[in-house]
Amino acid sequence: MTHYHPSIETLTDYAAGALPLAHSLCVSTHLEQCPECQKQLMKLEALGAELFEQNTMPTQSVRYLKDQFFAKLSQQEAVPSDTAINTALPQRDSKGYLIPKSLRQFIHHDYDELPWMHLSPSFKIATLLNEEGGAQVALTRVKPGAHMPTHTHTGDEITLVLEGAFSDETGIYRKGDFICRDARHKHKPIVTKDAECICLTVLDAPIEFTGWFTRLLNPILRRYHPHTSL
Ligand SMILES: [Zn+2]
Repeated sequence: MTHYHPSIETLTDYAAGALPLAHSLCVSTHLEQCPECQKQLMKLEALGAELFEQNTMPTQSVRYLKDQFFAKLSQQEAVPSDTAINTALPQRDSKGYLIPKSLRQFIHHDYDELPWMHLSPSFKIATLLNEEGGAQVALTRVKPGAHMPTHTHTGDEITLVLEGAFSDETGIYRKGDFICRDARHKHKPIVTKDAECICLTVLDAPIEFTGWFTRLLNPILRRYHPHTSL
């Protein structure tokens, strides 16, 4: 059961094709496993099409259209649950993990095939996409029961849990959860003891580790982030 979802603004931007590629990839991957957001997205797409038909006058301000859009959205009835949703069979890797459809362009058969970079004995990272002038998409993989290093964000961070679960000061996050953090957050995630945790992350800027030892990792992460000039 997913408890954390993209905001309605994020889904709206996704429906309008206005999200950057990295963020769009993360939302697509969440949508694959979240019937709730799939229904919300269909509502948004239907509304978008309706408003597009009604408002072709160039005098309509963007603010007005946006207000109208959200007003309509709040009046909408729920979309019937039997609406067709693409549910092709998921693909499992050698450890039995599901490889989301939207990530198969990067992971053909197995998470193990990726070029994982070990940042500590229990924490590794593999970059999937460095968008030109944009965000970085990566997978992080942490052993059962291990702490991720305490870190702060210099930009926004989206985390989508693909396998396992982790907790931090604000809650516990499980498979399918979509978590947004910004520069105000400083946290120390701990993976649950029962399984390793694989997350998809989108970073607008490199995260900064704050512990005395893990500060050594910062130059490494900056080197792998597209926004960084050394
Ligand atoms: Zn959702």
